[in-house]
Amino acid sequence: MIFPIAGRPLCIAVALSLGFGIRLFAQQPFQFPTANHALYDVGDELKFLAPTAPDKPWTTGSFGCVRSDGHQMHEGLDIRCLQRDRHGEPTDPVMATADGTVVYFNTRPSLSNYGNYIVVRHVIEGLEIYSLYAHLREIRPGLQVGQPVKAGEVIATMGRTSNTSETITKDRAHVHFELNVLVNDNFASWYKKAFSGQRNDHGEWNGQNLDGLNDHEILLAEHNPVTKFSLLNFLRGQTELCRVFVRATNFPYLKRYAALVLPNPRAEKEGVAGYEIALNYNAVPFALMPRAASEIQGKARIQLLSVNEANQMANPCRHLVVKRGSHWQLTDSGIRELEMLIY
Ligand SMILES: [Zn+2]
Repeated sequence: MIFPIAGRPLCIAVALSLGFGIRLFAQQPFQFPTANHALYDVGDELKFLAPTAPDKPWTTGSFGCVRSDGHQMHEGLDIRCLQRDRHGEPTDPVMATADGTVVYFNTRPSLSNYGNYIVVRHVIEGLEIYSLYAHLREIRPGLQVGQPVKAGEVIATMGRTSNTSETITKDRAHVHFELNVLVNDNFASWYKKAFSGQRNDHGEWNGQNLDGLNDHEILLAEHNPVTKFSLLNFLRGQTELCRVFVRATNFPYLKRYAALVLPNPRAEKEGVAGYEIALNYNAVPFALMPRAASEIQGKARIQLLSVNEANQMANPCRHLVVKRGSHWQLTDSGIRELEMLIY
């Protein structure tokens, strides 16, 4: 033992970092949801991702403003199938990406563009993350809501179910895989109010209430043998699309993602009148700063404080903000996203 004072934990850490440097960070929070791991084969992305059409680039199967020439968001990865039955239908087992609990599944494909899908809740570094697996052929018989699942446990079979008029062809068979934050437990009642008369068949497990994180970046960052991946640092390190103020002090996101709330002694002393929130281009709130009444200008309940123009130009597809003349403002969908957050 080189450092007797430090005791056993340091010894183990030293041994690991000296002898098993690469393996030190092998236990990462998220695993691939199928046996297809070809994401790491740089230049061979088409082995991993299913593009929207044979003549489209692999990026159309990845996360981001990648659809409709950059105008449409794709909130996950379309991971290509590796095995098929004699009819050419996909048969890849789909596995839970991390230890978690099944919170929802839909077995009526006609009710969602996700077709048959499963949502699993995980707690990672104190953060609630919801993985979603879509277009499934079959959900594992006997699987139940509330059931705990282990990372790598088979939960479904890959398929190509969806309710869109354009079907998923056999050659494009894939699992659509998302890693999300949950926006609001009160989503169902907010939706009823905001979209009166429109159906919401999936309660709070409606895709609108799940804001996708860039799972392509996450899976790549986890693979880095030098830097230990931290989901919390990943979230805190998001690029800001815009900064807003909301005159609301008690909404579920503050508790669910308490680690993203920043300290502000002045607001703590004078009383919190609202929150200044940084959003990334997919509307994920990743930094929330309490503000005192004395720090706020204007009376509006929701205010746009600033826009990162370069980020908006690069990732415009959520249409959260728009420039009118020389002024930026929140769009209707930007306001709706914030109304949903604070409802
Ligand atoms: Zn997809």
